[in-house]
Amino acid sequence: MPNSFTIGVLALQGAYAAHVKTLTSLGATAKLIRTPDELTGANGLPAIDGLIMPGGESTTMLKFLEHHNFFDTLQSFVATTPTFGTCAGAILLAKDVEHPSQRSLAALDITIERNAYGRQIDSAILTAPTRLEGDPLEMVFIRAPRITRAGPGVEALATRDGFPVLVCQGHILAATFHPELSQDPRVHQLFMNLIRNHSR
Ligand code: GLN
Repeated sequence: MPNSFTIGVLALQGAYAAHVKTLTSLGATAKLIRTPDELTGANGLPAIDGLIMPGGESTTMLKFLEHHNFFDTLQSFVATTPTFGTCAGAILLAKDVEHPSQRSLAALDITIERNAYGRQIDSAILTAPTRLEGDPLEMVFIRAPRITRAGPGVEALATRDGFPVLVCQGHILAATFHPELSQDPRVHQLFMNLIRNHSR
C-alpha cells in the first residue's frame, strides 16, 4: 500500500531532519511545522495527515510552544490526529512528566521520567526483539527518558529492562529512542499504518 500521506514534522528544535529523510524514503511527503498555522492549515482544512514530534530538548521545545498559543493549538491537534513522539517528543505527549516535572500535552496515558539513565550510561545503542514483524530492532537511546507508568489503554511494543520504550495508545505512538537514526524504517512504517487505520 502506498504511503501517500503528508506528514508534519515539528521543527522548532532538535532531531527533525532525519525524520524527514525516513518519511521521504517511505514515499510520504514531509512538511516542516514551525507555526500553529502550519499545523492546522488554511480555511480549517487540515494540512497534514499526522505529525512527528522529534527528539531534542523538551524544555526548549516547550518554551517555543508557549509562544503564540502554539501549545493550545498543538494540544487540540494531538487530541484527534495521529501523532508520533520520539524521546523529547514522547515527553511532551505524556500525561505526567517527572525529574523534574514539567508541563505536557497529556495525550498519552504514561508517566515519564526525564534523563532516567544517569550520566554514565545516558546514551546506548541496543538491539532487541519487539512486537514488530521481522528481526530484532536497533534502538538508539540518547539521554533517554523512561516510561515508569503506562495506563491500561497503552500497549507496549518494545521494552528495555522491563520498561516500555515503544508504546501505542489509539492514534498516539511514542518511542523513548530515536528510530530516525537507524536504517530500519519499521517504526515509521508502523506510524503510517496507524494513520491509515485512523482515517478509515
Ligand atoms: N533529555 C531530553 C529531554 O529531557 C530528551 C533527549 C532526547 O530527545 N534525545 O527533553
